[in-house]
Amino acid sequence: MRIAFVLSLLSTLSACTTAAPCPAGETRIYRDGQDTTGTCQSTGSDSGDSATTDSGDTAATALTLANCATTVASDVPKFYQDFFRCADIAIDGDSVMIHTHDLPPHPSSYYPTTDPNWEAWDDRGGDYHQNPNTLSTQDSYVWVPLSPVAKGITVTSDMVDGFATTSTEEYNGGALGVGLDSVLLFAGFAAPNDDISQEQYTFDTWDGHPQETGVYHHHSPNPGALSVLVAEGLATTNVPGNAEIELYGIACDGTVILGCTELDGSTPDEGDFDGQNGHVADIVGPDATVYFTGRYHQHVCPGKYNDAYFAEIQYYTTCETR
Ligand SMILES: [Zn+2]
Ligand SMILES: [Zn+2]
Repeated sequence: MRIAFVLSLLSTLSACTTAAPCPAGETRIYRDGQDTTGTCQSTGSDSGDSATTDSGDTAATALTLANCATTVASDVPKFYQDFFRCADIAIDGDSVMIHTHDLPPHPSSYYPTTDPNWEAWDDRGGDYHQNPNTLSTQDSYVWVPLSPVAKGITVTSDMVDGFATTSTEEYNGGALGVGLDSVLLFAGFAAPNDDISQEQYTFDTWDGHPQETGVYHHHSPNPGALSVLVAEGLATTNVPGNAEIELYGIACDGTVILGCTELDGSTPDEGDFDGQNGHVADIVGPDATVYFTGRYHQHVCPGKYNDAYFAEIQYYTTCETR
């Protein structure tokens, strides 16, 4: 059933694709916002691989927010500069191109047991069980349009059912977007014939899990993204539902994914929420910086609002991932 997912990833090789895949063991490195071709470079087998800062070469060093490699071009909108870590971000045409190795900068039982980021599984009283997959380094890209164009649809609660391929307006089955900590976000549904409400019991203690090809991802609020806000001094806890400001990431179409708060820490006005807790408003930071004007965004808040998972319905026209 995951074959459909792989096919959908392959089918998204798109107009934004500017270079062929690199040989095994190599990663395409983009030097700056002008370099859309890049060069393939050997990355070795360590988990902290980067051509820009080569500090992750000792196998004994765990990958963290503090030592992960972050490269954000200076012409990228401030939103990405202020809130994203552990990824390479540059302008590519009329999009922001986010390149991630999708390695969570925190412990996970889904790392190989030999990895310094590996930790023992916590079954949390017996409710949770590990899936058979092991997370691995990815070479993933998400292109977020600089100026998203709304489809003009209204997202009703009927369209948001937690199942894939039940609406023509859904995101495809691949990556939905990228979290603040460079971990891929997946939409609020499992693969066809799977049930996200059951799959959630394979989430690790950071609310993530890998699928069959090792792609680690989140479907819902998680401490990983909030840890970036803690590191930035914008929150004092990374526990979803309890942080002063809750921002998780951005979706491929331009939808901003927030938690229980607006980006300035205020409480969202539920009055105009659609079927996936989305609405359109300016995205304003805690220091009154206006990051986006009139931007569709979703609020996912544990135990609150209708939808416990990231967006299922694609509000804007384009979603490019690879
Ligand atoms: Zn999943
Ligand atoms: Zn809002």
